[in-house]
Amino acid sequence: MSLTPDQALEQAALAGIHCLRIPTPFAVGRVNCYLIEDEPLTLVDAGPNSGKALDELQSQLAERGHAIEDLELLIVTHQHIDHLGLAEIVAERSGAEVAALGIAAERLANFSEDAERDDEFAVGLMLRNGIPEEVARALQSVSRTFRSWGSQVQVTKPLQDGQAMPFRDRVLQAFHRPGHSPSDTIFWDEERRILIAADHLIAHISSNPLLARPLDGSDERPQALVTYLASMRKTREMPAEIVLSGHGEPIVDHVALIDDRIAKHDRRKEKVYKLIAEQPRNAYEIAQAMWGNVAVTQAFLTLSEVIGHADLLVNESRVREVDDGQVVRYATAG
Ligand SMILES: [Zn+2]
Repeated sequence: MSLTPDQALEQAALAGIHCLRIPTPFAVGRVNCYLIEDEPLTLVDAGPNSGKALDELQSQLAERGHAIEDLELLIVTHQHIDHLGLAEIVAERSGAEVAALGIAAERLANFSEDAERDDEFAVGLMLRNGIPEEVARALQSVSRTFRSWGSQVQVTKPLQDGQAMPFRDRVLQAFHRPGHSPSDTIFWDEERRILIAADHLIAHISSNPLLARPLDGSDERPQALVTYLASMRKTREMPAEIVLSGHGEPIVDHVALIDDRIAKHDRRKEKVYKLIAEQPRNAYEIAQAMWGNVAVTQAFLTLSEVIGHADLLVNESRVREVDDGQVVRYATAG
């Protein structure tokens, strides 16, 4: 019998892991940060950089008898601003060590320059895939205004994939699970079978495998969905009882959830294939055929979805990319 999500939260709390739900200005709603009452006293993710989020973080820590100044370790699960915006303030006030994936450290330390390059990368990608220039530019300015919710942070404890982090009462093992973002890292308590997964797995929404610049600083487009599916298959093999997410409720049957997500991507891939088989189309045209005219803010998200599934078809040699020098179209390979 698996637990209910509420029981899972209770069990995590008994293990000293407390979910702090911090508000964000984004459509996703609150972000889950986790306080781990152990030595070192640890916060997993800090929420976005806003006064409201900071107030709530302080009051929710105070409910458990702690202050930001008491924190000794801050763990950053990935590079998205709803999770790391307050990291700099928390680290400065507390003097806490900051642990994150080592290969993401440079990126986390250069937030604004990197965000700017990300936006340029995204614009280039949108134009190459048929999104009209005015939409791409509009999205770029939306992204710029969002940037104030982020911050840079110096990683003092760079983690390797598979590295064990010892605490007084537990060991957490860090695993790199890229896909939703290039730096997604999950934290595994094997003894208690509790997995802190952040946005790698979310119960109520499919974690978008967003196209993003690789961590090595190159501008080559990675196959985000292909990477994400491989990451999910690895997590599927873990004997987790409780998966604590970056948003929403805990996951109590991650195998069923992952199987469901993989099946959904498979169905979507076939839908994309059908559209390409009807006639060659670029990714923007495929997105429009699937979802109609989407809001500007959703344009990059849907593009990431389409290109992710087209990548799978290209890798299966069912579809090929036809590049006219300006725009990439997809056509059947036959
Ligand atoms: Zn998130």
